Amino acid sequence: MIKGLRLLAATGIALAATLAAAQGYPAKPVTVVVPFTAGGPTDTVARSLGQAMSKPLGQTVVVENVGGAGGTVGATRVKNAAPDGYTILLHHIGMSTAPGLYRKLAYNPQTDFEMIGLIVDVPMTMIARSDFPAKDFREFVSYVKANKEKLNLANAGLGAASHLCGLMFQSAIEANVTTVPFKGTADAMNALLGKQVDFMCDQTTNTTGQIKANAVKAYAVTSAMRVPTLPDLPTMQEGGLKGFEVGIWHAVYAPKGTPKAAVDKLVGAIQEASKDADFRRRMSELGATVYPVEQITPAALASHLKSETEKWGSVIKKAGVYAD
Ligand code: ASP
Repeated sequence: MIKGLRLLAATGIALAATLAAAQGYPAKPVTVVVPFTAGGPTDTVARSLGQAMSKPLGQTVVVENVGGAGGTVGATRVKNAAPDGYTILLHHIGMSTAPGLYRKLAYNPQTDFEMIGLIVDVPMTMIARSDFPAKDFREFVSYVKANKEKLNLANAGLGAASHLCGLMFQSAIEANVTTVPFKGTADAMNALLGKQVDFMCDQTTNTTGQIKANAVKAYAVTSAMRVPTLPDLPTMQEGGLKGFEVGIWHAVYAPKGTPKAAVDKLVGAIQEASKDADFRRRMSELGATVYPVEQITPAALASHLKSETEKWGSVIKKAGVYAD
């Protein structure tokens, strides 16, 4: 009986401490893990978002880059972090493709995380080294098909958005090229600028500046409609690849078990950030679309993640691509 009471008291004290901590949350800086290298597209979104979130949170938001294995190393790091609201994850569509791609994945995206919310949707662009010998997308496709043994396609590893887009592209044109994985497309972009690789598909949040500076050749966008900030680029569908459409949605997660008070605070902070004028301007300059605030909820993210996991799971199964 006494033992039982002691246990009850101890549990009560621990619970009260957790609740008190959650109520004073955040009492110190919050770390956003980006599962790719610094300077790339996911990092760019995270840094702008972090700045906008720091106002409603009343704390600094620090970005930590944990790249590797197409984003799965960083996601694993957050899955295993203390569920106290001080370590969160900003990831993209890779949360829905990794379960289909990896036979052994250290986490279940749908059950090992608290959903915070969707934040931006970003189109991709097909780009190539500045001396790539094709003047438009149709010529680009013909050239890749004719020279597939010689060409290298850069990506950010199995499970990255660039990997998914490259997979879809190779399947659409029925030609396979050699892929070169990096820990993020910031590194891949450097290799493309240095002409060590030939082409890649990457988010406009990384490619817009290089395209506008003519540092790379750009051939098409992956969205259904043209992108207002890159109006001269045709869509892949206009360029002849029927049904080719992919948008890279980004969302925020916390480790499973993060107290509800902290989750609510984080949801409120990203909702506020989505309305922040500087954040919206920066995102629109880079071709990204901020989700409407009513769609920035844990429930909307849970249902989006579920349907995207089903969609990409069957695409990946058909393509027969796996990692052990
Ligand atoms: N854009 C990259 C991808 O392919 C990741 C990154 O470096 O942000 O997923």
